[in-house]
Amino acid sequence: MAKEEIRRVKCLIIGSGPAGYTAAIYAARADLNPVLYTGLEPGGQLTTTTDVDNYPGYPKGIDGPTMMVEFQQQAERFGTEVNIGMITEVELSKETGGIHRARVDNKEWIEAQTIIIATGATAKYLGLPSEQRLRGGGVSACAVCDGFFYKGMDVAVVGGGDTACEEASYLANICNKVTMLVRRDEMRASKAMQHRVERIENIEIKYNHEAVEVLGENTVEGLKIINNQTKETEEIKISGFFLAIGHTPNTEIFKGQLDMDDAGYLLTKGKSTKTNLPGVFAAGDVQDNEYRQAVTAAGTGSMAALDAERYIGSIEEVLEEEKEKSVSA
Ligand code: FAD
Ligand code: NAP
Repeated sequence: MAKEEIRRVKCLIIGSGPAGYTAAIYAARADLNPVLYTGLEPGGQLTTTTDVDNYPGYPKGIDGPTMMVEFQQQAERFGTEVNIGMITEVELSKETGGIHRARVDNKEWIEAQTIIIATGATAKYLGLPSEQRLRGGGVSACAVCDGFFYKGMDVAVVGGGDTACEEASYLANICNKVTMLVRRDEMRASKAMQHRVERIENIEIKYNHEAVEVLGENTVEGLKIINNQTKETEEIKISGFFLAIGHTPNTEIFKGQLDMDDAGYLLTKGKSTKTNLPGVFAAGDVQDNEYRQAVTAAGTGSMAALDAERYIGSIEEVLEEEKEKSVSA
């Protein structure tokens, strides 16, 4: 049987959040003919939220899923090829000008002169056995996706960041009561977000509290919580348990090939999006443990495409020089 031909592209973009699509817009306009794989969450994290009020250019705000459809349409307008699919394995070249390989859905390989990694981050769980057992039975990491099922009921949200505040506010509109569990005596969320939840009557914020066990056989019926200062425990009745304790960068497939910090975030050089390997760039939350905003993800997405364009330009110059030398020799 004839050996299957492997497709080779100039620029492969992994991920379809704000970073991936912005990289695609820039790369397409620079004639890099980008090919983008969406992964399992087309549109990225913003598809799990309602209002995005802090992205410039939308004076009235916009809902996350609509915004991400518009990102995709803009990338496609300039010729980006958007494919549904997961990159499950990579073989990255260490050579300048080397060809990188990526495998799609554990099946065919694709080769690329440059790769822009924009794989973002995924919601974290506490790791309690009861929480894992009841995932899908009342345990969720996405209020916007699942909140509707708990209309008029009591629920709890774990976390004290912007996401937890946003989820609690969203749930407070639908549910009877929302208990927020914050493990420290203060929140990590922005002051604006904190004030928002403090003002909502049916949100109770329990500082210095943690979840010990999710109660219920097949569905969530309650939660055992502990005051980590007094060590007092109590049980509260809830029907939904929402996790909002942050995210883990999606970098598993790059382990051993790309430099990362202890938490698994990809390391980039100086102000650039360059990783430790030539022709491999990282943008968005996958390399940003600090800001993690749609606009910063988009910003670094544009930087990654510019870095990729310059890299390809420099390779082509070297190849051209080598060609000229061999002709004149
Ligand atoms: P992500 O949006 O995480 O996208 C990652 C993409 O990579 C996904 O498409 C995924 O499918 C894909 N992927 C992962 N692995 C693979 C793989 N192996 N192969 C192919 N594709 C892969 N920020 C704001 O600025 N304003 C807000 O109002 C706001 N609200 C938020 C609300 C919530 C509930 C959350 C969770 C976050 C919110 N943020 C907000 C943060 C914002 O969503 C992120 O900063 C932003 O989405 C990061 O973009 P990204 O492109 O880096 O990654
Ligand atoms: P985050 O800022 O990392 O906050 C995580 C929260 O969960 C913190 O309060 C943390 O507590 C808590 N936590 C972590 N592990 C825990 C555990 N095992 N048990 C109990 N609590 C735990 O994450 P995020 O809220 O998802 O926000 C991520 C990024 O997205 C941020 O940059 C945020 O600004 C951005 N975002 C922005 C908006 C917006 O602008 N509208 C909305 C949502 C998200 P500690 O503080 O004690 O560590």
